[in-house]
Amino acid sequence: MPKVHNFGAGPAKLPEEVYEIIRKELTDFEGSGISLLETSHRTPTYMNLNNEIQDVVRRLLDVPANYKILFLAGGGQGQFAAVPLNLISRTGTADYVVTGAWSAKAAKEAKKYGKVNLVIPPTDKYVDIPHESTWNLDPNASYAHICTNETIHGVEFDFIPDTKGVPLVADMSSNFMSKKVDVSKFGVIYGGAQKNIGTSGVALVIVREDLLNQALPICPSILDWTVNHKSNSILNTPPMFAIYIMGRVLQWIERNGGLDEMAARATKKASLIYGIIEESNGFYYAPVAKNVRSKMNIPFRIGSAEGNDALEKEFLKGAEALGLIQLKGHRDVGGIRASTYNAVTLEEVEHLAQYMRDFYKKHS
Ligand code: PMP
Repeated sequence: MPKVHNFGAGPAKLPEEVYEIIRKELTDFEGSGISLLETSHRTPTYMNLNNEIQDVVRRLLDVPANYKILFLAGGGQGQFAAVPLNLISRTGTADYVVTGAWSAKAAKEAKKYGKVNLVIPPTDKYVDIPHESTWNLDPNASYAHICTNETIHGVEFDFIPDTKGVPLVADMSSNFMSKKVDVSKFGVIYGGAQKNIGTSGVALVIVREDLLNQALPICPSILDWTVNHKSNSILNTPPMFAIYIMGRVLQWIERNGGLDEMAARATKKASLIYGIIEESNGFYYAPVAKNVRSKMNIPFRIGSAEGNDALEKEFLKGAEALGLIQLKGHRDVGGIRASTYNAVTLEEVEHLAQYMRDFYKKHS
């Protein structure tokens, strides 16, 4: 069995060094004599960890003091509901910029709690982001929602939209901590941890404090940002182990040069794969417009724009034989998808690039 290189979209690869730390700490957490798995969330041990992880988030993203950091159960989709439940009460309406399957899902969830205005024309292609000047923003919206990186379609924002004073809310599930972002441009940033910053079960939420205290009366306490902030994210028993792993991943990012270094690595890795797609003279086909191609999730077809089923199957089989795994595209779009999150090394991406080159040379 060759060494395995995991290009899965999530839950995704974690840094090897983090596994070593988890292994060491598993049965005796920081000298307590017991595992974190059997520690009360109301102990100083857990409170210290909770606060320490908030501090790392704050340092990595330079989170301003007027933003609160929450660790909530329910993952990304929990926040699809939490966003309207916490924010839509002001005007009853919200803007959604639908650039792929995930923002479409977020908009659908929001419709349960108020009116949703679609800012750009609906499509099922999701290969571009229309220029901001063409957007139909509602000045009366309670907030405007974007997904900064569409994990399935591979569409990533290369700009922060100007929503003209309407609070901007961003789902960053699949590019959280892959680069610096100016937090002050956002009202709320959230994401499930299981791609770039940990494992499933927890959402990291960063919310500007003036957006608290306006949840709908029907908002379940467990999704209420204000209630959770007041209890410092231990309203109930939180997904402690997932939060802990997120913390160890964030500390790993910090030790490895922080977000500028993650961004430089992401650019290098993505350029390598997109470069091979370009040099292949149409053998590989990347559907997404160049300026919004994701550096985290790279979807492509083989043989033609629609893909060639037999060639794609052969590609995946050959890849697996070399230990290059979880490259199958999402069932909604088919084809191939290479996810190159922070923990995936340049060396691993070079293996994939070499395989892609060999494969197209063999078939063209
Ligand atoms: N948003 C994005 C961009 C995602 O990629 C995902 C999960 N793939 C989600 C939201 C939903 O996250 P979860 O599965 O944690 O609910």
